[in-house]
Amino acid sequence: MFSKKEIKSIRNQFPILNTIINNRKLIYFDNAATTQKPKQIINSIKKFYYKINSNVHRGAHFLSKKATEKMELSRKRIKFFLNAKSSHEIIFTSGATESINLIANSISDLINKNDEILIPYSEHHSNIIPWQILCKKKKALLKIIPIDNNGNLKLEKFKSILSKRTKLISLSHVSNSLGIINPINKIIFEAKKYNILVVIDGSQAISHIPINIKKINPDFYVFSIHKMYGPTGVGVLYGKEELLKLFSPYKYGGEMIKKVLFEKTTYANLPFKLEAGTPNIEGIISTLEVIKFIKKYSIKNIKIYENKIMNYATKLLNSIKGIKIYGKVRSNIISFNLKNIHPFDGGQLLDNFGIAVRTGNHCAQPLMRFFSIPGTIRISFAIYNSFEEIDFLFKTILKIKKIL
Ligand SMILES: *Cc1c(COP(=O)(O)O)cnc(C)c1O
Repeated sequence: MFSKKEIKSIRNQFPILNTIINNRKLIYFDNAATTQKPKQIINSIKKFYYKINSNVHRGAHFLSKKATEKMELSRKRIKFFLNAKSSHEIIFTSGATESINLIANSISDLINKNDEILIPYSEHHSNIIPWQILCKKKKALLKIIPIDNNGNLKLEKFKSILSKRTKLISLSHVSNSLGIINPINKIIFEAKKYNILVVIDGSQAISHIPINIKKINPDFYVFSIHKMYGPTGVGVLYGKEELLKLFSPYKYGGEMIKKVLFEKTTYANLPFKLEAGTPNIEGIISTLEVIKFIKKYSIKNIKIYENKIMNYATKLLNSIKGIKIYGKVRSNIISFNLKNIHPFDGGQLLDNFGIAVRTGNHCAQPLMRFFSIPGTIRISFAIYNSFEEIDFLFKTILKIKKIL
């Protein structure tokens, strides 16, 4: 658990936390949308353009070699961070959204008519629509795993849906709208009995829960670097090598080819086969600093600290009359509503006090429909949030309730 002094030194690394919003020091509780970035990562991007800028894998000149080396080092570090088997299993994309779209497109040859693809009720739109489109294209069936009133997957129901026709299950490790931690180990265990492929959307887990790919053993695991203190525009797709080998590319162009003839093109080996075009080089290279930052504090300790903050916030919020928190056992997210207050109004008023939260449907319209609500107010924590900020949030909500 981090001491007050450590949290202060962590906060000092994030320049944006000194911003004044509406005459108040910013309190940033929108970490599930994107985290803030520490100086080291901002400086790494600056350094790239001052000293390294060039394209990768192309020119044989000094800078290009350096950029290529750093990009491949970043791939290796991510491999170690996840404890994956090989760097060939790490594909760079533009984000979790592109990672899922890549899988849904490239796996198309393995999906046949009347096959079934399963997703839970509570998914992010980016883990719904690509499967919907794939099913439509292949005349396969999209089946929804039901949830209970606390937002938890109904496991027995889930088991009863599985059959020889089930080809793939895609689900979030942690739900972005409620913060619920899905029982992915149990899901993967059941899926393997039928040889079903499992995609895990780790966007909300990657900087909050230790991930050991060899132990979890999913077929695919995806996330965005911008939700782990890094820049936007970089995502990761981890996939088992034997499966990625079967993938057809879904983007075509430079970098991903072996030989191009007008009659026929052959593709490069993994991982390049799936990485057409110039990537977000500065973003990928600054991921080296992301891994360094996270390793310094360790996900294990971050999790312990965030859990403490979570429990403290949950206790305070639960003492407010007329509050409803959605979901029971959660990671670093609290999604709630205040009686007779529209979430948009609540969020607007919190902003007046310098508190940044997310309001709305959190890219999960089916889930909001399930609860028959227009949306929620969502607060989500990261390593730099403090107990004092929770106290201020609590007092501010009490004030807002009086105003409205
Ligand atoms: C943020 C998020 C996504 C989409 O990530 P992008 O960075 O916008 O591509 C997908 N799934 C979950 C669970 C998320 O939280």
